[in-house]
Amino acid sequence: MTAKFKTDSETNLTVDYRPLELEQEIRRFWERNRIQQKVAEAREKKNKGILGYVEGPPTLNGIPHVGHARGRAMKDLRYRLKTMQGYFIPFWAGWDCQGLPVELEVEKQMGVKNKRELLQRVSEERFVEECKKTIMKYHKQWVELDNKLGVFIDQAKAYWTFHDAYIEKEWQILKRAWDQGLLEEGHYVVAYCPGCQTSLSNAEIGFEDSYQIVEDPSLYFKFKVADSRNEYLLVWTTMPFTLITDTMAAVRPDADYVKVQVGGEVWILVKQRLEPLMKELAIEKFKIVQTLDGKSLEGTRYEFPFKDMVPRQVELEKSSPLVHTVICEDFVDVETATGVVHLSPGNGEEDFFAAMKRGVPIFAPFDDEAKFTVEGGKFCGVFARDTDKMVVEELRNRGLLVEVRPVRHEYPTCWRSHHKIVWLARKEYFLRTDKINARVLEAAEKVEYFFDETKNRFMSFLRERKPWCISRERVWGAPLPVWKCRECGAKTVVSSKKELLEKALEKPSGDFELHKPWVDRVTFKCEKCGGTMFREDFVLDTWHNSGASPYARFSADEYTKYVPVDFLTEGVDQTRGWANSLLLEHVILTGRPEPPYKAFLFQGLVQDAKGRKMSKSLGNVIDPNKLLEKYSADATRFYSLRKCSPIDFINFDPNELGRRTYHVLSTLYHLNRFFLQNAEFDNFDPRKHTLEWARKVKQVKNVESWLLSKLQGMIETYTSKLEKCEFNVALALLEDFVIESLSRLYVPMVRKELWTDEPQTLDRRFAVYATLHHALWTVTLLFNPVTPYLSEALHQNVSRRLDPTLPESVNLENWPKPDAELRNKAVEEDFETLFKCVSLVYAARQSAGLKRRWPLSGLVIVGPKEVCNALRTVSELFVELANVQTVKYATEKTPQHALDEEWATASEGDIQVFLNPHRDEKLLGAGLMRDLARRVQALRKELGYMPTDVLEAVLIAELDDESIRLLEPYVSEMKNLVRSKELLLQVSRGETSVEWHESQLDDKKVSMAISGKKAE
Ligand SMILES: [Zn+2]
Ligand SMILES: [Zn+2]
Repeated sequence: MTAKFKTDSETNLTVDYRPLELEQEIRRFWERNRIQQKVAEAREKKNKGILGYVEGPPTLNGIPHVGHARGRAMKDLRYRLKTMQGYFIPFWAGWDCQGLPVELEVEKQMGVKNKRELLQRVSEERFVEECKKTIMKYHKQWVELDNKLGVFIDQAKAYWTFHDAYIEKEWQILKRAWDQGLLEEGHYVVAYCPGCQTSLSNAEIGFEDSYQIVEDPSLYFKFKVADSRNEYLLVWTTMPFTLITDTMAAVRPDADYVKVQVGGEVWILVKQRLEPLMKELAIEKFKIVQTLDGKSLEGTRYEFPFKDMVPRQVELEKSSPLVHTVICEDFVDVETATGVVHLSPGNGEEDFFAAMKRGVPIFAPFDDEAKFTVEGGKFCGVFARDTDKMVVEELRNRGLLVEVRPVRHEYPTCWRSHHKIVWLARKEYFLRTDKINARVLEAAEKVEYFFDETKNRFMSFLRERKPWCISRERVWGAPLPVWKCRECGAKTVVSSKKELLEKALEKPSGDFELHKPWVDRVTFKCEKCGGTMFREDFVLDTWHNSGASPYARFSADEYTKYVPVDFLTEGVDQTRGWANSLLLEHVILTGRPEPPYKAFLFQGLVQDAKGRKMSKSLGNVIDPNKLLEKYSADATRFYSLRKCSPIDFINFDPNELGRRTYHVLSTLYHLNRFFLQNAEFDNFDPRKHTLEWARKVKQVKNVESWLLSKLQGMIETYTSKLEKCEFNVALALLEDFVIESLSRLYVPMVRKELWTDEPQTLDRRFAVYATLHHALWTVTLLFNPVTPYLSEALHQNVSRRLDPTLPESVNLENWPKPDAELRNKAVEEDFETLFKCVSLVYAARQSAGLKRRWPLSGLVIVGPKEVCNALRTVSELFVELANVQTVKYATEKTPQHALDEEWATASEGDIQVFLNPHRDEKLLGAGLMRDLARRVQALRKELGYMPTDVLEAVLIAELDDESIRLLEPYVSEMKNLVRSKELLLQVSRGETSVEWHESQLDDKKVSMAISGKKAE
């Protein structure tokens, strides 16, 4: 066996698994050989089907965070899996470039506080230029992340939402909406951010946990009933400022109300709230003077308390008889508060509808910063929510305040600027998606969501059935393509640049892009009245940009081929974002209840190690580009998919990357290395020594049958779990196969057979290599969607090294399919029994203080016939693993002699083992030899010898005479075991000029020295 183990250093697999170097090398290999392009080209040319894909475009307003890395790992997993299965996927990048998020980032960089300052200090032209610079700056970092992470997305084919061609497609969708009567202008109560100075879409309310606990005044106050002596409506609110825009009060028509005597006054409130409310207000003396239904309160006039401060309210009263009267509405809540609500149609959605259907004017005296205008009278110039305190004071002065106390509650804030949102009636443009809600729901039902929780969340959001406010009063965005006549108000919707130029009355000189301010300079002649038409000064909601992507990013031909796309995955926050806007726009575009995607996986978000949200203020944000300088991309990918279900929030702890994750990947690496060293020495040729060949020459033992059978089952379940997006479950199976079946069980069971280079056993070794080769090669392929670097490295350095005819990249391989021929349930069951009994033996050994390495004379298994029969089929292995000389089986009775001689025992269910603990000199010697051999092995490793290196000599000193005597018969066995030509056992260290290493053997100390040439 001299020559056998010297070939080692020639392999390209380094002694240690060093993922960072390996990944860099593979990255260079991919680039140099254009692997990514070749894979895509190969599949485009020849495939078994096309699976459409459209990239959920990251917004280029900042650097990626580690949550994006997880999402991108999932996308790439799907791409590689499906590519290996033979499908073509247009896995092309895309970037979201416009909208509020980008504007805010640029404002921050330029030190601009709000839109007014932006327009005054910076011109729109310059602002647009800055926005473009900013997106290009961040774009670099995103591409860097994809490169580091090994994401095979095609960057050259990326789409950019700010390109004219893309915007034109968006306009076409809006034109479709216009033609269907779904694009409308109107006053509407919208959520408005005073910081960003624009309205927000419904989808943005509650986006990214923007509900925050805030403190507001909880306020009970009175409206005096007009022309009454002492009657009052009792009302509750947490937004006192809305009293300024109050125009009506509402009660529930079918509820019972009471008039209650409190002191010298009579209060009106809903009956069911009387007792709890009096308790809450600490009013002990009160008396019901009348009970009446809500309906009979309708039409009751009340005195608006601030007529002197808000003169406009007096005019409103004159303009409509319903102003400042009680109306009946079913939405009035009678479970809490007083059952009497005041309505501010200018500040509330329900209030707005109540006013609209009655023709009551909408009073919304606010400017762009949500400050009161002149119409707000004494409150003019004050920010809406800042008038809360003033209103409370005024009520107090007028004797109308019952009680005020602070209340902490959840309130929506702006997801970008964190300003408290206010609801204001504004002139906006809407997609009336509420009108097509049935079709939207029908379309959404056709989608596969993989998990019920995420589906339910999405469906219930869609059922809210709200119109989509798509207009934004901002600068950097796709312009709303609506032109309106100054004279007659006629409108027209433009759907292309060509049309724009043809119609233009005036236009900017030279070529111009479809953005503000240039596009604003285009005017038309009104066809109706000959007046001039100007563009409505809005840009589009950024969600409308990305939502147009399936239509906007493809050519007409590609659109037909790729849409509906096959599979999308984004963070769960996109339930209200991209998943929603994609669906709505597709239904508008097609007019049919069809979704643009067949499957959508919503991922849980990424939190820090302690389960906290990652935020700049906590300083716990992980920049994945920095992370990947220190940690392996494969490990990061494996970890973020393995740790929990994709829909769960993951607590990302970089320290964990070096632990279990590293261990799994490192084990796979070393198994390959072990295999390659041995296989190459014997000139194993996988093309010649196939599994079929091994079967033919009858060299396949049941241990191979077991491993191969297990592998087939694993391939099947693993694949189906990946398809169902149960990535964590799939990877647990794969990990278990590598760590348990291969590393802990199969390799130790055959290792000894590979130690020899006897020609007589060469065929048997080939059979083992064939098995290992098949198992490792399969596992390498199965790992590829998750750890593409390691898989490519193993493909190049192991698979292709042994068979250079294999494809150039692992990604061009076919996805493994389970081979029914290799399934063998019976053998798997026998081995289950074997492993169960072996662990019972270990338990018995442990209870008696008998090391596993110590050979023992015998054991008895007491158990059912099936168990004994199963063990008999693998008896050779059982004897070896149990490390005993003989095994006896008893189906019923406990062996008396075992009890008499106090044998060690352990049991589980109906199986019991008895282990003879008594050791004679031979057994003691053999046990001692194993103990020492193990220490020598450890020392070899420590000193950097390959497992395959053959040593010149091993010296063991400081042994007592007794030990030496016991060991004598085992010298040659031990030489084999530790792979050394010589073995010397000595009482003292003596004169020898070697380097001694001390080792502890139970309570004794021994010294060891080894010598020999290392392979490296
Ligand atoms: Zn904001
Ligand atoms: Zn006109």
